Amino acid sequence: MKKDKDKKKKASLKQTLKNNVFALKTVHKAAPGYIAIYFITSLLNGALWFLEGGYLIRQVVNGLEQGNDINDTLTFVIVLGVFSVSVSLFLQFMYSLVMPVKYRRVDFYIEKKLFQKASEVELRCYDDPEFYDNYVKAMDEASNRVMSVMDSIANLISGLTSLSATSLLLFVIDPWLIVFGVLPLAFGVFKRLDNIAKHSFDVENKKIKRRINYVKRTYYLNDYAKEMRMGGMYGKMLSDLMGTYRSYVELTKKYGVRRAVYGFLQNFGVEVVCTLGATFYSVWQAMVVGGENGGMYVGDCIVVISSISVISSVLGNMVQRLAKFGEDALYIEDIISFLNYEPKLKGGKETIPEDGGRIKVKNLTFSYPGSDEPALKDIDFVWNKGEKLAVVGSNGSGKTTLVKLLLRLYDPDEGQILIDDTDIRNYTLSSYRGAFTTVFQDFKVFSLTVKENVLLREIKDGDDALVKNALVQSGLYEKVESFEKGTDTVLTREFDDRGEVLSVGQQQKLHLARVFAFNSPFVLLDEPSSALDPVAEYKMFENMLKATENKSVVFISHRLSSAVLADRVIMMEKGRIVECGSHNELMRLNGKYAAMFERQAHNYIGSEGGKDE
Ligand code: ADP
Repeated sequence: MKKDKDKKKKASLKQTLKNNVFALKTVHKAAPGYIAIYFITSLLNGALWFLEGGYLIRQVVNGLEQGNDINDTLTFVIVLGVFSVSVSLFLQFMYSLVMPVKYRRVDFYIEKKLFQKASEVELRCYDDPEFYDNYVKAMDEASNRVMSVMDSIANLISGLTSLSATSLLLFVIDPWLIVFGVLPLAFGVFKRLDNIAKHSFDVENKKIKRRINYVKRTYYLNDYAKEMRMGGMYGKMLSDLMGTYRSYVELTKKYGVRRAVYGFLQNFGVEVVCTLGATFYSVWQAMVVGGENGGMYVGDCIVVISSISVISSVLGNMVQRLAKFGEDALYIEDIISFLNYEPKLKGGKETIPEDGGRIKVKNLTFSYPGSDEPALKDIDFVWNKGEKLAVVGSNGSGKTTLVKLLLRLYDPDEGQILIDDTDIRNYTLSSYRGAFTTVFQDFKVFSLTVKENVLLREIKDGDDALVKNALVQSGLYEKVESFEKGTDTVLTREFDDRGEVLSVGQQQKLHLARVFAFNSPFVLLDEPSSALDPVAEYKMFENMLKATENKSVVFISHRLSSAVLADRVIMMEKGRIVECGSHNELMRLNGKYAAMFERQAHNYIGSEGGKDE
């Protein structure tokens, strides 16, 4: 993604053209024919506006004034009426049926492309605030901006059609009238100054809006509901909101006077100089000079009065639309650079052996982007095939980071990870990650059925037995069976009144069911049992280790009572491995692990409920 935002604010003409063409090409690929429909409807709209607005009045009033045959006038009105009704019917059909469907197609096409790219983006990018900002912006704005280009072009076409037809009519009535039509362009300079002031206002207002949105979210999102009900959070957030409104008022005052003056000068130019000028001129031509003496007929005079102000507003609108091309181009640049983003973390070509192998972690050092302190330093160990490894250590010692590197969500700065002497970078990402079943500490439940939540994919025939077996083993089957729709029950009630909400402990069991359902050689469990009490956690690990006899398992737990079950324990501190061995060996060593174990055992026995470190 592009780094320099200020540079981006001055999008060149070439860039503007390129990005707008990109938008049009995208629309064409997503919904062929949409552009043509858009342009035809705009053309017809412009033509209708001209025919019904200026031309009809002129023909009828002049016809009456000049004593033309009434039948000719009526025929003209009827033909125009039939034409207008047919075109309106066609337009309504397009606007209400054809165009919304085409629009959704474009929307879906763009979302699909963005989603595909989003699934390739490495976790490292989420740690980069600038990338993340652009990424969210691209996701939020994509379809709107692409369609905005279409709107602008359509608006220009419709404006140009009505403008050229009306200008031609005015020119035929009296060539001098064109002066009043073109003058608004000169006053457009004030519009331009107003746009610049508005842009500066918007830029400064963005920060305020972000804060307002954040406060609003804390009020209505489930994520904050519990904390918000504690202490004085409502009051605190409300006073924050008041603060943002005060900043908004300040900002409005800062730019308000300037914008009011520009607005007034532009309106004065357009309304007083152009509209009133043209009105005086045409009334004088009609009343004083008269149509028969080379002046204007009454019909011409009415057309001038009704058209001239519209011409200036159409022109003003077109100038604004031209400016919009530049604005859209900046956003589309974000979308293009996001779509062109090449993930640095790339997979190789090989496929991982079906039964996994021995994993060797060699001198691994890793720092998070923007962080000076390495989260992992000189990590060196072997994870034998079928071995159950417990990784323990206090918070922040690097356990989760190790899991992320084992999954290749990040690549190390130094060192490597090998499977039977093959660097994991040689494997395709999908085959490598597919070899792992993972349950994270901050797991998420999707608003999907129980089955889909367990298998994390679309359900196929024959999956029922697999899901049932997994749920039985993880201890959640009885609960799921009590639901009206069993494993077809949707979790969360967001989209289904008959959906169910699981407790945190039940959610963990749901995720653990994956370990039993997935036939993968490696299992990574990052504190999947933190919501269970120590006894339940111990039982759960015991069951799981039995069920994963042939699999290689790494499990993280900050409660050492479960580490007893592992073949080997790795104790981490400040990103380094400080002790490694079986539980008994480490107890005999009487070092850090033994001290931590004793402390936890003492706390647990002392409090019965299990006080964790
Ligand atoms: P543990 O799982 O043992 O609690 P972590 O692996 O989560 O520890 O964290 C190790 C260190 O890395 C900590 O100092 C933590 O603050 C830091 N860290 C973790 N995630 C990130 C991140 N996304 N960006 C920067 N630093 C991080």
